[in-house]
Amino acid sequence: MSDTLTQAERSERMSRVRNKDTKPEKVVRSILHRMGFRFRLHTNTLPGKPDIMLPKHKKVIFIHGCFWHRHGVCRALSIPESNSDKWAAKFADNVRRDGEKLAAVRAAGWDVLVVWECELRDLAKLEITLREFMAKPSHLAA
Ligand SMILES: [Zn+2]
Repeated sequence: MSDTLTQAERSERMSRVRNKDTKPEKVVRSILHRMGFRFRLHTNTLPGKPDIMLPKHKKVIFIHGCFWHRHGVCRALSIPESNSDKWAAKFADNVRRDGEKLAAVRAAGWDVLVVWECELRDLAKLEITLREFMAKPSHLAA
């Protein structure tokens, strides 16, 4: 009963998990769930497909990896030494696109929170951040 998956099935399942449900996202979802909030995932109806959307509250949450999205205060920021110009251009592009997405979502009337991967290291603090974000009146309602 314990080991009924073949190796292929197992790795297929693992890759599916990795693609769709990155761990930080799962953690954020479970905290929100515990707080009693209902949400939708990866919705196509807003720019940048926010990772988590809380339609009732008009709030969305993006979960960003510190390396790819260039978290300003994070130590995960080193640029690979080979092809560093290319990397720098790629990163600049990511950051620009992130900025555009967030601005577009805000312009559509949604409150936006970005959760950085490194914030998952302190779950008590992350929970407070999420609680405050959810408690804040939506900027349209204010
Ligand atoms: Zn970070």
